[in-house]
Amino acid sequence: MNIVIMGPPGVGKGTQAEAIMAERHVAYIATGTILRGAVQEGNELGLQVAALMAAGELVPDHLMMEIIKERLLRPDARDGWLLDGFPRTAPQADGLLALLDGIGQRIDRVLVLDAPDDEIVRRLGGRLTCRACGHVTNLQRVGGPPTACSTCGKDALYTRDDDSEETIRRRLEVFRERTWPAAERLGERSALVRIDGRGTPAEVKQRIAGVL
Ligand SMILES: [Zn+2]
Repeated sequence: MNIVIMGPPGVGKGTQAEAIMAERHVAYIATGTILRGAVQEGNELGLQVAALMAAGELVPDHLMMEIIKERLLRPDARDGWLLDGFPRTAPQADGLLALLDGIGQRIDRVLVLDAPDDEIVRRLGGRLTCRACGHVTNLQRVGGPPTACSTCGKDALYTRDDDSEETIRRRLEVFRERTWPAAERLGERSALVRIDGRGTPAEVKQRIAGVL
């Protein structure tokens, strides 16, 4: 089964992607991971990506398409794949559909994971990062604000700028404006299923299992 998973930052997409992969044995195609891996390996693609990042530029769509195509054609993706992190815009969605047509593949399910902004803000805003060791404490899990890091014991916890409410709400707004049109495009050609991302990871996992 070929699956595309989409959802705003903080909705728990990564956790669910791991669960799907473990149960269905599909190849996991996460564009962020592929790019980071290429940069670390220092291969030809990595050098191109590193140069773009150093110049503060985004990886252009045509390059992303090439990367995805190459990945989709590898043997481990033959029995199914799970694409995470792409497409993010309507033109990317059109590009992906054309690419799939070209290699004779199709998307079986588009999983759209979402939760109300307030819940996502609560989840992401409830994170404290340790200045000393980098450990991230999830306030919802520990129940009440801790004063010291549970890993190194230092009193060095702070809220990262990325986790401030204003930043999170802006990121969500940008995401919904740009990425939901991409989901709709894919939904015109494949079964699109909306999944309620509220509740515990286990509850969300159950909902996803019910539609795959
Ligand atoms: Zn620490």
